[in-house]
Amino acid sequence: MSAAYKQERWSLDALFPGHETPEFENGMKKLEKSIEVFEKRRPELDIEIDEKDFLKIVNELEVITKQSSRLFGYAGLWFYGDTQDQDAQALFARIEQFLVGLQNKTLFFSLWWKELDQATVDRLKTTSGDLKYWLEEMRHYTPHTLTEPEEKILNIKNLTGFSALITLYDSITNRYTYKVNVDGEDKNLTRDELMVYARHHDPDLRAAIYQELYRVYGDAGPILGQIYQTVVRDWANENIDLRNYSNPISVRNLRNDVPDVAVDALLDVCQKNTHVFQRFFDLKASWLKTDQLRRYDIYAPIAQADKTYTYQEGVDMVLDAFQTFDPKIAELADKIIADGHVDSEVRKGKRGGAFCWSVDKDLSPWVLLNYQGTADSVATMAHELGHGIHALLAKDHSVLTYSSSLPLAENASTFGEMLLIDKLLSQEEDPAVRRDILFKQVDDAYGTIMRQSFFALFEREAHKMIKDGAIIDDLSEMYMENLKKQFGKAVSISDEFRWEWVSIPHFYHTPFYVYAYAFGQLLVLSLYQRYQKEGDSFKPGYIKILEAGGSKAPAALLAESGIDISSQDFWQGGFDVIDGMVKELEDLPIE
Ligand SMILES: [Zn+2]
Repeated sequence: MSAAYKQERWSLDALFPGHETPEFENGMKKLEKSIEVFEKRRPELDIEIDEKDFLKIVNELEVITKQSSRLFGYAGLWFYGDTQDQDAQALFARIEQFLVGLQNKTLFFSLWWKELDQATVDRLKTTSGDLKYWLEEMRHYTPHTLTEPEEKILNIKNLTGFSALITLYDSITNRYTYKVNVDGEDKNLTRDELMVYARHHDPDLRAAIYQELYRVYGDAGPILGQIYQTVVRDWANENIDLRNYSNPISVRNLRNDVPDVAVDALLDVCQKNTHVFQRFFDLKASWLKTDQLRRYDIYAPIAQADKTYTYQEGVDMVLDAFQTFDPKIAELADKIIADGHVDSEVRKGKRGGAFCWSVDKDLSPWVLLNYQGTADSVATMAHELGHGIHALLAKDHSVLTYSSSLPLAENASTFGEMLLIDKLLSQEEDPAVRRDILFKQVDDAYGTIMRQSFFALFEREAHKMIKDGAIIDDLSEMYMENLKKQFGKAVSISDEFRWEWVSIPHFYHTPFYVYAYAFGQLLVLSLYQRYQKEGDSFKPGYIKILEAGGSKAPAALLAESGIDISSQDFWQGGFDVIDGMVKELEDLPIE
């Protein structure tokens, strides 16, 4: 059992006591001083440089990274806790601008490293210990890097170009409100509030909220579509034309340090397994007593009872589940809460959703939740604390190598959720609750695996089509085809879903980000299957993967555990787990 915890806002004291304090100003000054010193190192960077001197320079960069991360973290966390606070907005913007300036001042180091001859690279790398992978990884960008003045211009122009365009997209879409009638009451809702009803029992309400969502996005479709076309052209102009990437998705793959073939294998296997979820949707249709599911119904609840949990109960359940796996894991999670780094309250002006932010590797990460007592809220807590555990396990690495790359970033989090679900299943005797848990699990697997991989397939096609001059209607047509392939005969899709693609922020913010969700979840399903087979002997190897953080290439790290991410068989293994869950549900008598 854990200590008594209540829902509260987080404390940022471990970073700074406030923004208008001598400590914060001092933080800024210290950082400026570090940069000044670092800039003077420039002449020392030549092929004759001694290994020790080289390491000293990199250590200075580590200090700069830590210092700036604390300032940025403080400003960001304050802002996300109070997005409507004008002082918080102003500080966040000021620090962002400050850090871009700083980035430009330290740029010369990575540019020098990327252009260095291989023999010198090898000589310096061998004595750099934990920084080896970080140094190696930087060299991947050698063929895609421009000259220093060109890079600086891109950085500066991005602030008022690409970034500004994204901010504009956010500003336009964040203002949208949605009108819907719930139980005879007219409501004006935000998107987050609206989408809660996608999981409502009433089929008419489910239809109404999607129709309202895409009425609003459809009205703005021509403008949002135009922004998307511009984003895609900017992506191609910079990455294909200037930086010589072979195709748009390779840019993301390199950033994730995952080979193109592995991502192709993943997406191929997803396309081959559409039938697994289609069977699930057929089954859901039977439970809902309808012949065919509508797209409105895919998240419809089978559950009739809504069990809720107090915050303390939620915390206890999560820590118990972690304890069963390894007491050390539970201890780390407990520490994050005990340090006051979890903002679990629901309050006006606070950012929606949830995240975990490791600001300083030597401190507990900060976790934002909007805890509402549902089973979902508890699962989200397990998820975000899982992220936190990952960061804490990897903290002995350099600040430059402790955080894992994107495809592995969802590992501990999803694994944590699975632990919680297993715990729930093992304790729950009510067959109805057990069935609800399984349904919910496949619902979620759909959302992270199939939905996201088909998003990535849409992006791959859209980038190609826009290059060839596709208009917005062409993209909507293609999106509908994409949905039809995904759902087959199992789900009917009404026409307003042609505007769904303009409503997906990831397509704008971080092209091709989405496949990482499918990657992470299938990877965890495979690992979890091994845990169930191997039991205790699985644990040390798994903890080793987490402890590695970002100090090794994902493919190499997983290969140490016998996993080949370029093989279709490996990805198929993840689908086999889902297939098993669907079979278990198919065997239940329909009530
Ligand atoms: Zn996550």
